[in-house]
Amino acid sequence: MTAPEIPRLVPGSELTNYPPPEMWDDWVEWDAKAWPEKKENRFRLVPTTCFNCESACGLLAYVDKDTGEIRRFEGNPEHPGSRGRNCAKGPATINQVYDPERILYPLRRVGTRGSGEWERVSWEEALADIGGRMGKAIREGRQDEIMYHVGRPGEDGFMDRTLKAWGVDGHNSHTNICSSSARVGYAMWSGYDRPSSDFANAKFILLLSAHLETGHYFNPHAQRIMEAKEAGAKMAVIDPRLSNTASMSDYWLSTWPGTEAALFLAIARLLLEWDAIDRGFIRRWVNWETSLEKRFPDREPTFEAFFEALKETYATYTPEWAAEECGVEASQIVDVARGIADAGHRFSSHTWRATGSGNLGGWQAARTMQFLHVLTGSVGTKGGLSPSAWGKFKPTHWNMPPPHSRWNELLWPIEYPLAHHEMSILLPHLLKQGRGKLDVYFTRVYNPIWTNPDGFSWLEVLTDESKVGMHVALTPTWNETAWYADYVLPMGVAAERHDTHSYETHAAQWLGFRQPVFRVAGERDGKTYNRTYEANPGEVWEETEFWIDLSWHIDPDGELGIRKWFESPNDPSRPVSVDEYYGWMFENSVPGLPEAAAAQGLDPLAYMRKYGAFEVAKDIYEVHERDTSPEAGIEVDREIKTGFRTPSKKLEWYSETLEGWGWGDESIPTYLKSHVYWRDMDMGGNERILLPIFRLPTLIHTRSGNAKYLYEISHGHPLWMNPIDADALGFETGDAVKITTDIGWYVMRAWRTEGIRPGVVAASHHMGRWRQKEDAGNERWSSALVDVEKLGEGRWRLRQLKGIEPFESDDPDSSRIWWRDPGVNQNLAFPVHPDPVSGMHAWHQRVTLSAAGPEDQYGDVVVDTNKSTQVFEQWLEMAKPGPGPDGTRRPLWLDRPVKPTLDAYRF
Ligand code: SF4
Repeated sequence: MTAPEIPRLVPGSELTNYPPPEMWDDWVEWDAKAWPEKKENRFRLVPTTCFNCESACGLLAYVDKDTGEIRRFEGNPEHPGSRGRNCAKGPATINQVYDPERILYPLRRVGTRGSGEWERVSWEEALADIGGRMGKAIREGRQDEIMYHVGRPGEDGFMDRTLKAWGVDGHNSHTNICSSSARVGYAMWSGYDRPSSDFANAKFILLLSAHLETGHYFNPHAQRIMEAKEAGAKMAVIDPRLSNTASMSDYWLSTWPGTEAALFLAIARLLLEWDAIDRGFIRRWVNWETSLEKRFPDREPTFEAFFEALKETYATYTPEWAAEECGVEASQIVDVARGIADAGHRFSSHTWRATGSGNLGGWQAARTMQFLHVLTGSVGTKGGLSPSAWGKFKPTHWNMPPPHSRWNELLWPIEYPLAHHEMSILLPHLLKQGRGKLDVYFTRVYNPIWTNPDGFSWLEVLTDESKVGMHVALTPTWNETAWYADYVLPMGVAAERHDTHSYETHAAQWLGFRQPVFRVAGERDGKTYNRTYEANPGEVWEETEFWIDLSWHIDPDGELGIRKWFESPNDPSRPVSVDEYYGWMFENSVPGLPEAAAAQGLDPLAYMRKYGAFEVAKDIYEVHERDTSPEAGIEVDREIKTGFRTPSKKLEWYSETLEGWGWGDESIPTYLKSHVYWRDMDMGGNERILLPIFRLPTLIHTRSGNAKYLYEISHGHPLWMNPIDADALGFETGDAVKITTDIGWYVMRAWRTEGIRPGVVAASHHMGRWRQKEDAGNERWSSALVDVEKLGEGRWRLRQLKGIEPFESDDPDSSRIWWRDPGVNQNLAFPVHPDPVSGMHAWHQRVTLSAAGPEDQYGDVVVDTNKSTQVFEQWLEMAKPGPGPDGTRRPLWLDRPVKPTLDAYRF
């Protein structure tokens, strides 16, 4: 037999490194292990989407045509965001699929909650029990006792639709331990809560994060930043830590944590002084008239007067002052300002997590950073920065229910009216205060005991059935929180589920389609499936079908008006199928897709199943300048333009919203002192600033423990400490350090490194996974066996009994594990720090460092939750509760997930 020709790589030509789509159904490779024999391996290549971070890069699953197994994952060259490239976490999806420790069947608690006794149940039993309980709660008017708490969403719009169909204000997210802060900073300028950076066309790039390795939309952004650098762009990175990103930069500014807004305002001052600003843009698009009227009422209402007012406002922010305040060289500030000025409209930037997520008032870092774009007019320009929504495509979902009219005080307490997302970090405290209770609580790809601050307070409420009646953990892996569930329901990883998503990776819009690889490959082989779990490993389900079927169990006869939203359009006596659901979406709400599909003789669903993604539009710039109707737009120089999403439809230097809701001093871009302000610390003694939130590029928050490829690369997280501090405090690399916070302490190992500024210590946040039984509660690739002991009322200790060891399983690699250190969970020892404006948890900690004593063990975490309550109450006092000037709970124009009707906003 003649072997089929294998395509050759063509140097200098793009995409030839990838199998062409016309060959995806029968791709042939020589078996490397069989060499010198020429043995063919035949594959069916099925596109799907990575689920291991928020970037949603395309993947191609290589399905062995002989065995039906997935042999590996590579990049999908047809995906417009990732363009065939992935980080290490994408291909590691294979480990998650074939992890011998994964949960394959639904489990129900047998003993007391947290005792770790489980029995296997059928999906039907689980659905009937959970759905029946939810139906009862809804019938009895207890909708607020149902809560869906999501970690990594990985989908756009399906749960919004589901919660609306249930009539429940129960959406809870992880956002206020992640990004609420920066979102508020951006939203107060433009009404859009995230930036969309056109990195590939930029001349100067300013990053307030470790963006090249771990930032938001990390791989899609990193590849475009590198393109810009290859074309000559300069890059500045602000980070107290010498991240991999900082090491690739032209300017590394190692600032004191929380002082970054001062640095940006010093740059703003220089731009104003040099007149390196786009006056035309500012005159057209900044609310300068209102700003003058409210902030400088005695000035002439002229643009020049505004310009002078800006200069006066920021006059004290000299480079020399900012250098002193931030701990950098004044010449660095001038150099970066010059780079921004020279780039003009081709100045791009990004911030995510980093200072915004670390500091009290961190939202002003994003607000002052965006100020630099407003001044230079690099808003919506080629090579500049656009609002997120311009680069994100949101399809309409099928048969969309109307908004509900409820307001859940457990999620949106009146003390935090401007919080960008739900006050999820406060849930244990609000439950303890008796502000409500939960009858059915879903954690969905979320692990708050481990991931959130103050995990022992979570443990206390999750083990109290008067506060949490039923806890259902929907998760692809074991996790520390699932241990305290009543049901542990295994959900699919990237190759086992349907989802759609779109993110602002560049100046374009695209839609990605995640799909269950085994099911799609089986269907191409002529098999039929009723539900995805019939094709997946074990009985691993996908959530789309789970929520549809659960909704039927909540309302089996349609009496509650819920079932109708989940009935098949072709046969209402059965649930809608995923083909019907996504088929409608692709047919009816994705511009250009039906035509592109028809050109290939496909229907839109078949097109998306074939390619896994579709580019809806590209080269999207200056949307604010588009013409629109008088009802929708704003008049600018006698033309009706689209503008922005703020109340004024302009970019708001002065925010009437902030002023009206009690934050007058903060209503303009300004600098706020952090709770870890360096001048307030006893640096001469043993106090230091702890940065506990940087990511490693090769680990996922809590879902990479079973990814052996990743853990073999990254399996340590020591405490970074500058030799100046290490010498002053007497630490050598490897010494056990006792780190004391406001509520407890923990023990880590020191690592002396010049890669962090003196006065600041840091440890990445991935590690410290644990299990409470030898062979249950977590996978053994990454977790320590621990003892969780209650030392007294509110006093807890987690102690490691043993670290990581090889173990026997179906995967021979598990007996070859050579890494030993499980790391330490720091988050347990952090109290909640809710920023009074953004609601964001301010992660950074003021800590004292001392040598661990003879009674202390590596990995010990000791916490007093009575102190947690005290710190919560202290921070609560900083809040300025609503209602606002119009009697509402929250400004109507600010976005919020699963937005209710306007009635619900009235207090
Ligand atoms: S950046 Fe990496 S982890 Fe994130 S979606 Fe892309 S491949 Fe997956």
